[in-house]
Amino acid sequence: MTHKKAMLIDISLCVGCNACQAGCKEENGLPPNEEKYLSLTAYTALSKYNDLYVRRMCQHCDVPTCVSVCPVGALTKSGVGPVSYDGEKCIGCRYCLQACPFHVPKYEWSSTKPSIRKCKFCPNRLAKGRPTACAEACPTGATKFGDRDELLIEAARRINAEPGKYVTRIYGEQDVGGTSMLYLSPVPFEELGFDSRLGKIPMPMLTMSALSKVPNVLSVGGVLLAGIWWITNRRTEVQAHESALKQGKTQPQEDDE
Ligand code: SF4
Ligand code: SF4
Ligand code: SF4
Repeated sequence: MTHKKAMLIDISLCVGCNACQAGCKEENGLPPNEEKYLSLTAYTALSKYNDLYVRRMCQHCDVPTCVSVCPVGALTKSGVGPVSYDGEKCIGCRYCLQACPFHVPKYEWSSTKPSIRKCKFCPNRLAKGRPTACAEACPTGATKFGDRDELLIEAARRINAEPGKYVTRIYGEQDVGGTSMLYLSPVPFEELGFDSRLGKIPMPMLTMSALSKVPNVLSVGGVLLAGIWWITNRRTEVQAHESALKQGKTQPQEDDE
């Protein structure tokens, strides 16, 4: 049985020490300087709203829009939770940047072999039964790692135990169909920059629903995606063939179209 993992971020407990970003940077071999915004070298960052701190990072959506728009399967969702990225498959179309409702993925614009960068949800740690590096680093329990079902129970328990302390909402429980990052807040989420207009329906389903009302769009879209896949696949085949030629492992093809 798969236990879907998640993190519960209790904004009321965060003291803004930035240990989560430091732990993440150490885990991922990123430069240790403190950063205020998500970037190629900051997979998580703290935003400040008056006296409250909010962690931003990939939400690892249950039905991720980034995965649904990637034409080559470079982004994938694991049953345990992480949305992973394979730079070898990526063709740099940057559809994922446009599609993410939380504006998370960053792109290496200046690199000759650019990749997408974002929080990875520490998959190597999860595979060993360990917590994420940011949760392990948090000294106050503001970020807690665990099974998503259990964290939802814990979040509801905290709201019920101290009804005056929290708004009665767990952000991420159902937003965009549910996410692996769950938040508790002492003030309405809109005041902290959360987008509460995203709704409960996963974005890929909204897109498919809208497209299905436009005649021929689905079939045209399918053909387009198939075309992108063919070009990508063909490019890989040609590269492999040229490489084999250089190494004298094969004969030149007479008609390579
Ligand atoms: S937050 Fe954005 S990048 Fe992360 S899984 Fe969701 S859609 Fe993808
Ligand atoms: S889950 Fe891992 S990669 Fe994501 S912010 Fe936390 S430490 Fe960084
Ligand atoms: S380590 Fe914990 S308390 Fe410190 S900033 Fe991160 S989430 Fe907040």
